Amino acid sequence: MQWSRNHRLIACWLAALLLLGPAAAARKRKLPKPGFNLFSVKQDIELGRAGAKEIESKVELVTDEQVNRYVQTIGRKLAATRYAGDFPYTFKVVRDDAINAFALPGGPTYVNTGLILAAENEAQLAGVMGHEIAHVALRHGTSQASKANFIQIAAIIGSGLLGGGSITSELARLGISFGASSVLLKYSRSAEKQADILGAYIVHDAGYNPVEMARFFEKLQAETGKRSKIATFFSTHPDPGNRMQRIEEEVPYMAPREYDAGSGRLPEIQKRLRALGAAGPPAGEKAPARRTPRTSPERSSKPAPQTGPPSAARLSRPPRIALPSGSFRTYRGRGFSFRYPGNWRVYEGEDASVTVAPPDAVTQARGKGLTVVRGAIFGFLAGAALQQASLAEATRLLVKRFQSANPSLRPVNRQPTPMTLSGRPALLTTLFSDSPYEGETEIDLLVTVKTRDGLFYAVFAAPQRDFRAFQPAFRGILNSVLLSN
Ligand SMILES: [Zn+2]
Repeated sequence: MQWSRNHRLIACWLAALLLLGPAAAARKRKLPKPGFNLFSVKQDIELGRAGAKEIESKVELVTDEQVNRYVQTIGRKLAATRYAGDFPYTFKVVRDDAINAFALPGGPTYVNTGLILAAENEAQLAGVMGHEIAHVALRHGTSQASKANFIQIAAIIGSGLLGGGSITSELARLGISFGASSVLLKYSRSAEKQADILGAYIVHDAGYNPVEMARFFEKLQAETGKRSKIATFFSTHPDPGNRMQRIEEEVPYMAPREYDAGSGRLPEIQKRLRALGAAGPPAGEKAPARRTPRTSPERSSKPAPQTGPPSAARLSRPPRIALPSGSFRTYRGRGFSFRYPGNWRVYEGEDASVTVAPPDAVTQARGKGLTVVRGAIFGFLAGAALQQASLAEATRLLVKRFQSANPSLRPVNRQPTPMTLSGRPALLTTLFSDSPYEGETEIDLLVTVKTRDGLFYAVFAAPQRDFRAFQPAFRGILNSVLLSN
């Protein structure tokens, strides 16, 4: 499928890496670790095996070889990552319309047909599976059981009964089973947070965009009220809140890579499942499949101009992306100058801001500001309040100003990164926003410097998936900025 081949998103850390050098991105992150647990890893595995037998006697497994192989291939990629731990993972498909997945201690992982049908792309399906694998790797099930039934479980383990084939019956006497509200499968909010974070690293490592995982969870959460098919997932995986933000905060810590694991076979597998009689979201409820054709660069057909309304901005992607040409021109404004790619256009705004962008980039007035889908914007924020403000305070004011025009704008890190621009102290703030392109995330790099004319700013914007292509041009522009006041 076209979609998945094009779905090579580059994480925003590239921004910091390429603008500032490797030091900025080479930070270490503390990842969640397994917590208190009375069970041994071996007992996790035994317990999961017994639970799998019990569960598989009650549910209907999909036997279609292609469907199974598809899910197993994704699962194996995820299980092979260094964050998945050393567990004997298995992946099976349960014929159930409820949008759900679950994993037993030690690795048996189940994906419902309803979940496969609800996913918009393979990265979302992989995201949920990665989240389940994270629960296994962090041993959340047995950790929670250990905390809830500390004395009894310690006694069972002490008696040596565990591992003698009667684990499930012994635990059943404590009320611990693999039922829907089992302490082994019903996670706390803090376990959810941990599984989101570790799951993000698992899918990233396997080659899937972790932001898709968060996006899928948030989408499901938003629809829970409307659709009872979703409720089961959140009854065992309670929404810890701010999922998207939490994942996006991790992205700058992840190693660079292209998200190229998608096989593009999801639509075909979904078709197969429907033919087998599985039911997904009712027609009309599911978001339409994204069509994002990207033709080869040598094609020169002009895209139709995009003149969509600013806030209802859900545009389809123009068919061609004009990459920056090698030659540069110089723009001289009041108090600053910079060089920009020769095939880009200059747009001078009413508020004395200047935008440079490829000729086919969508630009539109929104309030006072200009929304540029791909390109760079320069300007000054002036005002008495700014005279006394520190660079960081002035930058916060500017971000607030931008946010009033575009409420989806959100900083990725709590603290901007210090840098130098035109020999002066500057701050780099990385922001995400909803791209006017259907369902995409836009990266906005904001560089700010205090000058006698006010706060100078430069914004470099591109959809996440295009960011790498624009990186050399953005860096060239940024390095050429000269401030004169
Ligand atoms: Zn969970």
